[in-house]
Amino acid sequence: MGSPKLQVLLLPHPLILLPTARLTLPISRSLADAILSLLDDSDAVVAAIPLPAPDSPSEVTYGTAARVARLVRPRNQSSPTQPYLLSLHGITRIRFPSPIQIDKLDNLPVHNVLYPSSEGTPSRDTVEAFKHAALALLDRLAKDSLQPQRKDDWLRIAAIVEDISEQRAAWMADVLVAAVSSQYPDKLAFLAATDVEDRLRRATELFVKQSSIQEVSKKIASAVDESFSRQQKEYFLRQQLAAIQRELQSLQSSPTSVGPGFGTGGATSELDDDDQADADDLADLRRKIEALDVGSEERKVGIREWRRLKRIPQGSVENGVIRSYLEWLTSVPWPSNSTTTPLDILKDHSFLTRARAQLDADHYGLDQIKRRLMEYLAVVRLRALADAAQTQTQGDNPSTDASPGAAPTPPTKSKGVKGPILLFVGPPGTGKTSLGQSIAKALGRPFQRISLGGVRDEAEIRGHRRTYVASSPGSIVQALRKAGRNDPVILLDEVDKVGHSNFHGDPAAALLEVLDPEQNHSFNDHYINVPIDLSQVLFICTSNTLDTISAPLLDRCEVVELSGYTYDEKMHIAKRFLLPKQICANGLSDSQLTLTDDALLHVATMYTREAGVRSLERAIGAVVRFKAVEWAEWLDKENGAMGEEWNAKQNENRSEKQDGNTNVNGSGKEWRAIVEAHELEKILGIPRWDGEERDREEKRGVVYGLVVTGMGEGGILPVESTALPGTGRLKLTGSLGDVIKESGEIALSWVKTHAFELGITAGRGVDPLKVPDVIDVHLHLPAGAQKKDGPSAGIAMICAFVSLLSGACVPKDIAMTGEITLRGRVTPVGGIRMKVLGAHRAQIRKVILPWANRKDVEHDVALEVRREMQFFFVRTIDEALDAAFGHGALGWRKETVLLESRL
Ligand code: ADP
Repeated sequence: MGSPKLQVLLLPHPLILLPTARLTLPISRSLADAILSLLDDSDAVVAAIPLPAPDSPSEVTYGTAARVARLVRPRNQSSPTQPYLLSLHGITRIRFPSPIQIDKLDNLPVHNVLYPSSEGTPSRDTVEAFKHAALALLDRLAKDSLQPQRKDDWLRIAAIVEDISEQRAAWMADVLVAAVSSQYPDKLAFLAATDVEDRLRRATELFVKQSSIQEVSKKIASAVDESFSRQQKEYFLRQQLAAIQRELQSLQSSPTSVGPGFGTGGATSELDDDDQADADDLADLRRKIEALDVGSEERKVGIREWRRLKRIPQGSVENGVIRSYLEWLTSVPWPSNSTTTPLDILKDHSFLTRARAQLDADHYGLDQIKRRLMEYLAVVRLRALADAAQTQTQGDNPSTDASPGAAPTPPTKSKGVKGPILLFVGPPGTGKTSLGQSIAKALGRPFQRISLGGVRDEAEIRGHRRTYVASSPGSIVQALRKAGRNDPVILLDEVDKVGHSNFHGDPAAALLEVLDPEQNHSFNDHYINVPIDLSQVLFICTSNTLDTISAPLLDRCEVVELSGYTYDEKMHIAKRFLLPKQICANGLSDSQLTLTDDALLHVATMYTREAGVRSLERAIGAVVRFKAVEWAEWLDKENGAMGEEWNAKQNENRSEKQDGNTNVNGSGKEWRAIVEAHELEKILGIPRWDGEERDREEKRGVVYGLVVTGMGEGGILPVESTALPGTGRLKLTGSLGDVIKESGEIALSWVKTHAFELGITAGRGVDPLKVPDVIDVHLHLPAGAQKKDGPSAGIAMICAFVSLLSGACVPKDIAMTGEITLRGRVTPVGGIRMKVLGAHRAQIRKVILPWANRKDVEHDVALEVRREMQFFFVRTIDEALDAAFGHGALGWRKETVLLESRL
């Protein structure tokens, strides 16, 4: 029998049909006809042979005998040249006795074929290796498949592979190789492997190779996927960012925007490098948090907030809130990030001498105050040194009193400066702030000033809680941040003006906590919310009066009074401090401007009339500025165009030693460096106080009293009274408080009681307000806008009533103060020093004061003022009236009274 023949069907490259596999392919009409005719006579087996790649040898040796399973012509088959679909089922390998030449695809040539024997059992090792590789691949395929159905299929096949016998292994290899995807040459080689052992080995290799390919491609896929999704995300965010920036830019460049410098600008501007600056800021913040003391509360809070910050998307409101909190938190001078005063300054033996020199250099006079400050500085120094010594001893032998095994004692906290808190009380411009600055300079510490005037809200001192929109720390923390150290000198300005308990909390109580040495080592700012140690801070308070300061606050302070300056002191201060300061501030030199003593005094007396020197400084500043303009114009005129010559001239003029009066330049015109008193009107205008004394009139019913204003400034105040038809009543006006009203009542009662002795009424028991005419008495204190209270106007009121009712006048150069009692005694009052100085400034030369206030005049009033004034110290109202009206001026009926009582 000849060798079997089969019609050969060429499979187009890269199709390949392995035994046991199925394959469907499109075929042409002629091929379909040929296959159809085949179906008619036999069981339709063809030799399906793979067509080699176009560039490889076109000879084929191996193929697969395949049964035609189906031939259909689907309706929707798209290819017009190949409208049929042929399904083949691979049965077994075939081999051609000799390689056949492939030429045409669309007919079925007949060729002799051989059926290679697939008998034989492969070796156990080969089968094991095959199984192992197959299972590994199946496992990976199961894992990688996305559809659960497919996963199950792979696992089911794996279960069959596990149980496969050695005889069936080769068949299994065919099934698996047909099922898994692999490369064409590998499949081709596998088809050619007729030997069972060889076939299994090839299958093993193919599986191993496919496993690793599968693994690598999976990795690549997931990496690509990941990077792709990250890229996508980044791209998306960048698009959003760019859109936001565009919006912002368009807002900023719109006409309503803030102005130049924030617009779209050139790309080169450093202002545009937001990202970099932002990253730098964050890195800086992080460094600062890391630098905080390990284990400290501030660090814990800092780390917690930092973590929150990282979780919250940038650009959100919350992110900004946390960031600004962290910036505040890290900028508070904690022990870890701030330096304290080096002890060397305090240890230095010349510390006190240098401190005194500093105070003297900054301030004229104030001897008593400077002495008090020196005591204070000495105490600060001793305490600091003792504190340092104690800390050192503890450091040297930390466990002297600790038994072995006892818990280590925590290092004691520095006690800080727990001396009294200084409270400078005095009118404005008397040097309270600048004394504080001098103390800070002497101690080598930074100086900060917190103005408490008008603070009604506790949060201004203690900060707003962070839940509050736009919350921020209080003034104490802000001052600490500005100082950058935990031991600055902080001046609490105007503590008398701080508000008391209201619905915004109690600012005075917050202030007490700040100042209380027992509490202030753990001051709690609501915003920062971590206890801050203020014990190293040196607080100094200032106020204008003591009246409105709460008792507990006053209790913690040591009061140092600055009452104001005499004209003599003012002249010295002006010459030594204020004028040089203003000359320098206005770009002139000492040689270019001088004010004569007369001119200075004129400014002090006619243009300002205050206790301090602030207005004086302002007025001097105005004179200096006026002269500075004159000087510049003079130079311009003389030197022509501005330029080098101008500068040279100016320098020349500066260095030139002048005769103190005039400066003659090239053109012969003179520069007057001196300002005299008569020129002041041209510069400062009409004197504010000119003629005040002249206008003061000696008039019936008018008397001058002495007062201290709310600003702590002394002065005189007219007490005016007049009679008008009425019902015998007293009318009081001028924004008066209860106490002063009562003083008025007492004064009138006393006058009514003593009207007969004073010669006001003709008979005893007659009411001077009813006889001869029925009148009302109206008493008025001018400057009605200012609230007035206190008992010290008593004797002035009595004098006013006596003058009104008797017709006698009190001379206009007399002023008085003193409280009265119904029984006719004059009792002492406060503020004598300020009142006397105020009277002196107002050109009053005679002052009536209570007898008990003699010591105040002697101790507190400067000698030159005392020398220029005459003091009447009175014990009773009678004495006061005598002093005011002059002895014998009133028609006293004292003798008669005495006589009558004896009778
Ligand atoms: P206060 O705080 O009492 O209102 P300041 O301390 O601000 O007043 O003083 C106002 C100005 O007066 C400052 O320029 C200060 O240097 C100056 N001054 C006040 N007293 C003296 C003084 N005794 N010697 C020199 N300058 C003084």
